[in-house]
Amino acid sequence: MKKQQLPYFEFRDFPTGMDEEVKQALIKATYSKQYILGAKGAAFDHAFASYIGAGAAIGVGNGYDALVIALKACGISVGDEVLLPANTFIATINAVLQAGAKPVLVEPDVNTFNITAAGAAKAISSETKAIVPVHLYGQACEMEEVVKLAEKFNLKIIEDAAQAHGATYKQQKVGSFGHASAFSFYPTKNLGALGDAGAVVTSDPELEAFIRRYRNYGEAGKYNSVLVGVNSRLDELQAAVLRVKLQYLDELNAERQRLAEVYLSELQDIEGLSLPYSAPCCAHVFHIFNVRTKHRDALQAGLQQQGISTAIHYPVPLHLQPAYSFLGHRQGDFPVAEELSQTSLSLPLFPGLKEQEQESVINAVKAFFRNK
Ligand SMILES: *Cc1c(COP(=O)(O)O)cnc(C)c1O
Repeated sequence: MKKQQLPYFEFRDFPTGMDEEVKQALIKATYSKQYILGAKGAAFDHAFASYIGAGAAIGVGNGYDALVIALKACGISVGDEVLLPANTFIATINAVLQAGAKPVLVEPDVNTFNITAAGAAKAISSETKAIVPVHLYGQACEMEEVVKLAEKFNLKIIEDAAQAHGATYKQQKVGSFGHASAFSFYPTKNLGALGDAGAVVTSDPELEAFIRRYRNYGEAGKYNSVLVGVNSRLDELQAAVLRVKLQYLDELNAERQRLAEVYLSELQDIEGLSLPYSAPCCAHVFHIFNVRTKHRDALQAGLQQQGISTAIHYPVPLHLQPAYSFLGHRQGDFPVAEELSQTSLSLPLFPGLKEQEQESVINAVKAFFRNK
């Protein structure tokens, strides 16, 4: 008999009925015949800002654009150095380069895998203008220290919150700490659209005004160009979808956290397997459930044999990717990031994952280590 396949990620109707609600909102938005910068986008911007606890959210085309626009709004440009973790998705570094600045990579913390103020402090120079904390896998960075460091060295903070919608540091939502923050609503993110979408969040009215213009060709009003901008607007249909799903974000995150708790308790005490660590004060919304083992490749192959798909975030750290060889780094420059890339494995965790499916993952992992 063929083994049942379990994908790493699948879209499921969770909570039950959300799909139908999304469908109805989509049909309504279609018939509203207003497709660009209309009421749906404005309503989502408002609701998302209020959810994050920030002054404003400005919908844009995707998470990468959100990062570029946030950096530009903060005045980052040619000659500036920007600190970012060596272990992140390439969007973070590409955005820094797109803004014309020089990316300066920082070794992540060995336990949380997030950038820390202490780590970042070592990389500060007279040209450093900004820091981009990435709330990796859904865990909030330790923001109090990051804010203190930024104040001391007069740095702008641009949070990359693309994996951490709803995560909190000391009860405050990520995305509300930075001068500007970037969110992605890529379909598989904790808050996902049905295509590309993103948002910049800020509580600074001047930045908000810049961002609203910049994402719409730099126009202050129709045919009144006040700066050279781009076209990166949040689509009205995606805004309608996101407005519905935002109402369920806390429930979706709670389900991710519940599933994570099951993994954490069932997989504890396996020799050779490290489980994700959550720092006190740093809430984790488990965009990714990342385990580590030096038998990573064998474990991945073993699970695949049982029909269980996994993923690796990320198999090559930024400094060892050919595209960034011009930064002049080599193997050994960021041992923690390198170790992570060799040992990390992301287990299936998504809202709607069934109990027996999760059990099959747990049993397969246990069996793998029993036979080691
Ligand atoms: C997904 C992601 C982005 C980019 O978002 P897109 O919407 O795909 O452009 C940026 N940073 C991180 C850390 C991400 O995970």
